[in-house]
Amino acid sequence: MIIFLMEERTIFHRIRDREVPADIVFEDAEVLAFRDILPKARTHILFIPKYFVASLTDITPETAHLPGLLILKAQQFAKEKSLTGYKLLFHVGKAGGQEVFYLHLHFLSDQEF
Ligand code: AMP
Repeated sequence: MIIFLMEERTIFHRIRDREVPADIVFEDAEVLAFRDILPKARTHILFIPKYFVASLTDITPETAHLPGLLILKAQQFAKEKSLTGYKLLFHVGKAGGQEVFYLHLHFLSDQEF
């Protein structure tokens, strides 16, 4: 018997692969950022790595650079948009409020761009 182990595709896979629309505000070879569909602040952006990792709990030595990469891109984005104050947040696990199991960094600011 052949068993295919398929990765579960989340809504963020589908946004990354342009299968569903999103309000994309930043993209490069490694990271994509788009507006949260239910914003919890005036500016609420989600930063995801193009390389799939489900959650911060799944980070290994091989993928340990990814959370830092998201933070770096968020910092560059803030500078470009003249956003001087913001909050960065990872929800980790169901009990930590994570609903979408594709690693993402929330960028929240009361400033608008
Ligand atoms: P979390 O609770 O950390 O998993 O956050 C998931 C976030 O994804 C929530 O803030 C949702 O509002 C947001 N979200 C879910 N679906 C979409 C979508 N299609 N486009 C943009 N943001 C979404």
